[in-house]
Amino acid sequence: MDIYKALKKYFGYDSFKKGQEELINSMLDGKDVLGIMPTGGGKSLCYQLPAMMLEGVTLVISPLIALMKDQVDTLNEMGIEATYINSSIKEEEAVQRARDIRNNKYKIIYVAPERLNAIAFKGLTQDITISLVAIDEAHCISQWGHDFRPSYTEIPRFIQSLKARPTVAAFTATATTEVIEEIKRLLALQNPITSVTGFDRPNLFYRVVKASNKFAYLLDYLNKQGEGVVGIIYCSTRKTVESLVKQLKDKGIEAIGYHGGMTPEARQKNQDTFIFNRTRIIVATNAFGMGIDKPDVRFVLHYNMPQNMEAYYQEAGRAGRDGEDSQCIMMYSPSDVVKQKLILQNEYMSIEREKLLYKNLQYLIDYCHTNDCLRGRILTYFGERIENRNCGKCSNCLEAGETIDITVEAQKI
Ligand code: ADP
Ligand code: MG
Repeated sequence: MDIYKALKKYFGYDSFKKGQEELINSMLDGKDVLGIMPTGGGKSLCYQLPAMMLEGVTLVISPLIALMKDQVDTLNEMGIEATYINSSIKEEEAVQRARDIRNNKYKIIYVAPERLNAIAFKGLTQDITISLVAIDEAHCISQWGHDFRPSYTEIPRFIQSLKARPTVAAFTATATTEVIEEIKRLLALQNPITSVTGFDRPNLFYRVVKASNKFAYLLDYLNKQGEGVVGIIYCSTRKTVESLVKQLKDKGIEAIGYHGGMTPEARQKNQDTFIFNRTRIIVATNAFGMGIDKPDVRFVLHYNMPQNMEAYYQEAGRAGRDGEDSQCIMMYSPSDVVKQKLILQNEYMSIEREKLLYKNLQYLIDYCHTNDCLRGRILTYFGERIENRNCGKCSNCLEAGETIDITVEAQKI
């Protein structure tokens, strides 16, 4: 079958998004790939479509246990035979699924990296034909990236243990040149076709705010949003999440919290509440959001500055996945810098790594202070060259004129 026909048949789309076609064709030719596509760029389809066209099964490795069920349900609704194996399913259910997998019931199997080298799973994978191994959120293998998951380092050993080496495909939205090299090396990708679709998200408006009273700014901002406008507020600590939720409630604004200190059940519940629009605002730590495909998020506001540009880009990128105009607001305060530095100081690490983390933090601090185009700063971080130094869609480009006027005024005084 031709890939356009398959695209229409399985997913109902008429055309590919940028980068998808090249990556899919390479995988179908049996070539390893590394796909760097922006948040919302359509990475899932890049492995789901070949999965339907290749013989045997596709194994999808993903760190997102909480999302696997949703992803698989969505595929099942489209008539695609998919399942998942992770720690959330009961023993008997896992045994049943393994039996079905042996009977070739499924084309796509999602698996958590922790499972890969478990004896039962290894035995199972020896009995079936795996044509493609797709690694989602591949930056999690890099210690230099912002979201290292130790279990990701299990992946190469697992791939090596398979009786025939499948095609290996890795995907991520964030990777600096160093991280790209590390992904290729650690996953032992073989002459991978690397496609960098670019990092720009033209529908996102970037703003940096230095407010002396953060909460007052936030309140004013939220009140200015129309009824039903959906947004994410990121905080750096669990404590801030909880107190902000309470403060907002006191002001009559309904919001729910999400952080790593909550039970998995409570987290799942609040995630669903937000995803299914029962609450329009979620206040969260960075534990929230990876892999979530909620299209209509209109703003992502950072109440505290995160640790580096990669984290910021990922988190802010959860706005506007439907392509509609959306806002990314970073609230800067010097105390956040102090907080981030304390976190770094308390971590045990090599001098080399410490230097890098400080450098990455500094880049974000500079982002908060620059008068240059904010979009330009983001793209430059990821090694993209920008031609137009005035994007017209960030607070610096839009308000540059005003700032100068004020300065002139001030000089006159
Ligand atoms: P990410 O790259 O962030 O993982 P997803 O794979 O979740 O992005 O895809 C984002 C959205 O784009 C999804 O809603 C998906 O259905 C949609 N999408 C993917 N490919 C296409 C396509 N070729 N045409 C239209 N929509 C697409
Ligand atoms: Mg994704």
